[in-house]
Amino acid sequence: MYGTSTWNTAWLLVFILLSAASCRRQPPMQPPTPVTDTVAAVATPAPSARDTAGVSDFCLLTDTIPDILLDMRYYSDYNFVGTRIDGYEEPVAILTKKAASALRKVSDDLRPQGFRLKIYDAYRPQRAVAHFRRWGQDPNDTLMRADFYPGLAKQQIFSRGFVARKSGHSRGSTVDLTLVYAATGEEVDMGGPFDFFGERSHTFSEQITEQQRQNRLLLRNAMLRRGFKPVQGEWWHFTLHNEPFPDTYFDFPVSKRHF
Ligand SMILES: [Zn+2]
Repeated sequence: MYGTSTWNTAWLLVFILLSAASCRRQPPMQPPTPVTDTVAAVATPAPSARDTAGVSDFCLLTDTIPDILLDMRYYSDYNFVGTRIDGYEEPVAILTKKAASALRKVSDDLRPQGFRLKIYDAYRPQRAVAHFRRWGQDPNDTLMRADFYPGLAKQQIFSRGFVARKSGHSRGSTVDLTLVYAATGEEVDMGGPFDFFGERSHTFSEQITEQQRQNRLLLRNAMLRRGFKPVQGEWWHFTLHNEPFPDTYFDFPVSKRHF
């Protein structure tokens, strides 16, 4: 009996030791997936070619121009629609590497004069433009009219070309921006706000003061010097002259997860 009991004790010890060793070999317990991740996974489809095509030729503007300021209006709800726009998943600014590098030169030119660049919009996925069009089809949705299109019927925003069926921004080398005084962080007075749909937004509008015209020309000339071309109707809007994708309209979302 004595012998059997000793063997039983020995086997029990071996069993306990093996069990302990086996427990140690278990991978550490994973924390439960946060609820927010689960929601994101449901709300955002898995990345597809549509979500990533062309991304490697783009970059985050803050990586190229570290002191650039961002006021990404289509990520916020302060824009002409009044809500966050489809495809703007994070408040980041993305451009083609070629356009970002040209914009860096603009920033470098202006910094010694006491200015920094502030971005309102850069690369814009096609799904965002589709959102604008959907909004345009509801004549009753005029939430932001007082701030952005007080002088226009909603349909005129489209008929006059302020918002187009396709946007050059989706090609990735177009940017909307203004100047800020580096010393105070104050925006330079351009005589009218970004995305105001009206004559006042014309670079050479008669409705602005001489100083405001000079301020617009300061931005315009700095952009032209580094290869961007303006449009007359929107003092804030510029496209790189030799853009790398003149015929390609991208649709990957605005997010830093690709970079
Ligand atoms: Zn623009």
